[in-house]
Amino acid sequence: MVLLVQKYGGTSVANLERIQKVADRVAESRRKGNRLVVVVSAMSGVTDGLLKMARELCKDPSEREMDLLLATGEQTTTALLAIALQSRGVEAVAMTGAQAGIVTDGTHTKARIANVTPRAVQSHLKAGRVVIVAGFQGQTMEGQITTLGRGGSDLTAIALAAVLKAERCEIYTDVDGVYTADPRTEPQAKKIGEISYDEMLELASTGAKVMQARSVEFAKKFGVVFEVRSSFNGLRGTMVKEEAKSMERVVVRGVSLEKSQAKVTLVGVADRPGVAAKLFTGIAKAGINVDMIVQNVSLPTGGKGSKAQTDITFTVPREELPKARKFLEPFRRAGWVKQIVFQEGVAKLSVVGIGMRSHSGVAAQLFRALAAAGVNIQMISTSEIKITVVVDEGMGAKAVRAAHREFRLGGKEGKR
Ligand code: ADP
Ligand code: ASP
Ligand code: MG
Repeated sequence: MVLLVQKYGGTSVANLERIQKVADRVAESRRKGNRLVVVVSAMSGVTDGLLKMARELCKDPSEREMDLLLATGEQTTTALLAIALQSRGVEAVAMTGAQAGIVTDGTHTKARIANVTPRAVQSHLKAGRVVIVAGFQGQTMEGQITTLGRGGSDLTAIALAAVLKAERCEIYTDVDGVYTADPRTEPQAKKIGEISYDEMLELASTGAKVMQARSVEFAKKFGVVFEVRSSFNGLRGTMVKEEAKSMERVVVRGVSLEKSQAKVTLVGVADRPGVAAKLFTGIAKAGINVDMIVQNVSLPTGGKGSKAQTDITFTVPREELPKARKFLEPFRRAGWVKQIVFQEGVAKLSVVGIGMRSHSGVAAQLFRALAAAGVNIQMISTSEIKITVVVDEGMGAKAVRAAHREFRLGGKEGKR
């Protein structure tokens, strides 16, 4: 008997009708003789609704209580799905993350999985039950309830598939796979048949929220091959797996856009050893998520005891701008930084593909396409398999379209 881990996201369990459909699908798979662990998210909108309620009561609610609150969303769907299965005569048991043995560190609201002790899950499976596990949540060694960061049900599914050595891990969502760009914003986007962990990771961490980035990292580490597919049809989805030589033929696999970013520029920062270290250590300690960092070349070149100055620009998620402002102002007042410019309304556009390793000129090609579309580039950063540019948020969709067209990712034009 094959062991499958299936994960159903928020839209797939959005109401009772959809939960019934999921129950039909699970029951059918069980009848075929599969052993099943099913991870579910909260009904779509529930996590956001809970967050909103808490923030209406308090601007900065305590993270421990937030976790307790958010974990209820997944608990509801878990129980409802188990009940729907039981009413079909399928033996099923619902479990919280803690009951399923998901042990995490104590970083409330974005906890990391420390280990998984699946004994209880295994014994239910052995007894022939379908095990329904609440995604997105765990428990510390001390018994505190934690959550795994937004989109964290993906991580629960991948982690369970890894420890249980499942035959397959299937991520059911509202799109039928991973596309060359977000199909909601790019109508030409095309489904990708297979994609490497590294490409999926880069896309996920640059705005393609179809998978939680940390879950992809985890899958790569433990070699969990998984499929992203639709819970609304029976079509084959996208396989995410170790890279194969043939994958390198495609230079750009996909394009992603991360909106709601902000840019912070520190003008006139002393250019000597230790300054950036002090600034960014503090920023990290304040829990601010810095991404792209660009430092200008200063003339004369700084060094120990140098009076030279430089400018540093970095991006942060827009919602972290107030925190960044609060943290950085004292540096300006103390004369470490002459001026600080905060700019909202920017987005990051990324093009990703392992083929970039062996092809040159991809950056130039992207820049030409953006220029032709009238999109101004504000910052640039590159990695081995990714080029990211910061653009005006209002130009984001246009930039995606231009890049998508340039690298011939669209359905009609075929792959490059
Ligand atoms: P779930 O609730 O099932 O976890 P999510 O909303 O987290 O689903 O993720 C699915 C959504 O991800 C899709 O509806 C789609 O709009 C978005 N998305 C962004 N980029 C991509 C992409 N490259 N391919 C597919 N979907 C994408
Ligand atoms: N319900 C959580 C969220 O909305 C976790 C998930 O859906 O994966 O982020
Ligand atoms: Mg998701």
